Amino acid sequence: MTQSLNDFLIRILNAHSPSGSEENVISLFVDFITPYISEIRIDALGNCIASKKGTGNRKIMLMAHADEIGLMINYIDDRGFLYFKCIGGLDCNLLPSRQVSILGENGTVTGVIGKKPIHLMGQDNLNKSLQPEDLWIDIGVKDKAEAESLVNIGDVVTLLSNTNILANDYIISKSTDDRVGIAILAGVAQNIKQLSLGVDVFLVASVQEEIGARGAQVATNAILPDEGIAIDVTHATDYPTMSPIKDGDISLGGGVVIPFGPNMNKCINISLMDTAKTNGIPFQKEAIAGPTPTDARMIQIAGAGIRTGLLSIPCRYMHTPNEIISVHDVDSAVSLLTEYLKNASAT
Ligand SMILES: [Zn+2]
Repeated sequence: MTQSLNDFLIRILNAHSPSGSEENVISLFVDFITPYISEIRIDALGNCIASKKGTGNRKIMLMAHADEIGLMINYIDDRGFLYFKCIGGLDCNLLPSRQVSILGENGTVTGVIGKKPIHLMGQDNLNKSLQPEDLWIDIGVKDKAEAESLVNIGDVVTLLSNTNILANDYIISKSTDDRVGIAILAGVAQNIKQLSLGVDVFLVASVQEEIGARGAQVATNAILPDEGIAIDVTHATDYPTMSPIKDGDISLGGGVVIPFGPNMNKCINISLMDTAKTNGIPFQKEAIAGPTPTDARMIQIAGAGIRTGLLSIPCRYMHTPNEIISVHDVDSAVSLLTEYLKNASAT
């Protein structure tokens, strides 16, 4: 990975971008790719669609989602405590005592999701499965009026956690899902700048994936590519409590994952594997027996049907405030997609 791409990845990992409020990540993406790709536009939903014209008439679309799971302020009580709804699939049992960032109209407001001290918890409450209404955000205000001077109903919230580098170039962050995909698009943009390709390439940073791949649906219908390849994370199974027998053998650092199943076009998968083998790029395989919970699901059924692929980056602890990925897997995805586009240009 180039230093500039690495710096970009860290920047977007630290940005706040819950579904429906992806402007921060989209604008960082636009800033980064502008030197590398000529055409960039933002559609009505907020998808960023960057394109590079080729010499032929086929269109290949690569897509990764810019949004992340988060919270939305729903109610403010008389003492100024904030109640919330979840945006996307959050595990509420992980939320107590987390610091959060509320994206208020007049700036960011920091708070903490409150929690009764263990000393005062009855035995019954210790193992309770928490719901959003059991929890609240404390921003330190005295009453409702003071709270309303800082936040509004409908403001979105992200979890605060430090991005850090672990051993073996593993990265820990709140939003590797799917900022690694955005970084992969950016890496491909860098690599194809100097290339004359036989296909039109579309790089799409999509919005609202975590709430139903809604941006993917709109962008794919607008582009109607001959092929669409989504890039997302998948569950690594190389840590305690995970079962390779149940969920496949997926390791961090083992290379990009090529999933197989009805959501993925067989010819695209064969071509991805051939390209990886020819170029010595490590990859892993995964079986997904139904529609995937990614943008690929909506790409495939856009228009009159789109030949669809999916590349995944192994991720530990998905949808928690501390997801882990390996930089090496990101590198293998960037290399594979770059070589895939070169190959597609030759055929
Ligand atoms: Zn995702």
